[in-house]
Amino acid sequence: MPIKIGIPRETATGERRVAIDPFVIGRLSKLGIEVLVEKGAGKSALISDSQYDGATLVDNAKELSEKADIIWRVQAPTAEEVSIMRPGSVLIGTLMAHNNIAMLKALQDNKITSYAMELIPRISRAQSMDILSSQAAIAGYKAAIMGADIAPRFFPMLTTAAGTIRPSKVIVIGVGVAGLQAIATAKRLGAVVEAYDVRPETKEQIESLGGKAIELTISAVGDGGYARELSKEEREQQQLELAEYISQADVLITTAAVPGKPAPKIIPESTVDGMKEGAVIIDLAAEGGGNCALTQPGKTITHGDVIIHGPLDVASQVPVHASEMYAKNLFNFMQLLIDENGDYVPDFEDEVVIGSLLTKDGQVMHEATVELLDKTLGEQ
Ligand code: NAD
Repeated sequence: MPIKIGIPRETATGERRVAIDPFVIGRLSKLGIEVLVEKGAGKSALISDSQYDGATLVDNAKELSEKADIIWRVQAPTAEEVSIMRPGSVLIGTLMAHNNIAMLKALQDNKITSYAMELIPRISRAQSMDILSSQAAIAGYKAAIMGADIAPRFFPMLTTAAGTIRPSKVIVIGVGVAGLQAIATAKRLGAVVEAYDVRPETKEQIESLGGKAIELTISAVGDGGYARELSKEEREQQQLELAEYISQADVLITTAAVPGKPAPKIIPESTVDGMKEGAVIIDLAAEGGGNCALTQPGKTITHGDVIIHGPLDVASQVPVHASEMYAKNLFNFMQLLIDENGDYVPDFEDEVVIGSLLTKDGQVMHEATVELLDKTLGEQ
């Protein structure tokens, strides 16, 4: 029998996205899959209940959890929200189990099978399911807009009757998905853009977007195309070489991350002290503690005449398109879990399925999470 997919209203503080989009409902319906949506689920993403054509509206999360075979979410549920799910049902979302042991235990207790979208292997075949990329692209775009908004200067060059205004200089540090989108957006707004990453292959990508690559003496390519953590000496050298460039920036956007580690500290206080009056730092790495030593996650502070903004959950601030892209990522992932009749038949031989499988009927399957859980239980 075709499955029922349930979409609850997101309950995390400040979360504005929703895990479904009217277009995806149409695609699921064609497969014979029934979609249940909790009333008001799309409200903060500006999707009214009446736009969920073809879906069944459900009064509350409890009723939804009782009826659905598979629940789609943006953010991880609380342990209480897992406890109202039907034993043996399936959860798919950004689960971040390492930050959420109570939820993990509830998944075990309630014998839930769960797939963590952030664990999907970043291979070419899985690009259409990659929520890290879709949401990071949104965050990068928004970071450039935030920089332009907070800065006391124009981004573009303006030639006016009142004289010619020089364009702002934007420096982007960390040229992954978010960094590339920040470069592209700042360029579109007319800024002069320079960018830096420890992975040398980013030079060509920066230049293809019209930016200038900052080349330092440090290179730090790690496993799987990601950066590795720098040694203390390399970090000091990097800070020293970068400070010179950063002193010229009107807006500095930092996005550097190393998988599984806190955000690398790249901008010490001394570098901020050397920045221009009115310069702005948008620290997109705030979620992981920040790339700037002075960043306070979730806050905007001033240090001397420099404004340091450490936004959290940035993709949620563009909820319409963030929801649309997230829902399409989920739909593409679902293709690996269902057959042409809309039945749930996951292929556990598939590396994308097994790579994202957090729990199966309550048993923790993801190796790093098993180790974390053992460690946590050992400490109790
Ligand atoms: P990320 O968010 O993990 O990190 C952002 C950037 O920070 C990276 O470019 C990284 O090199 C850089 N960085 C780390 N430490 C730094 C330091 N000390 N100084 C300066 N920069 C530093 O990156 P991401 O956007 O998730 O992408 C990482 C990699 O994954 C890239 O190689 C990208 O091409 C690849 N990727 C693959 C797929 C896919 O095939 N499905 C999808 C997206 C990204």
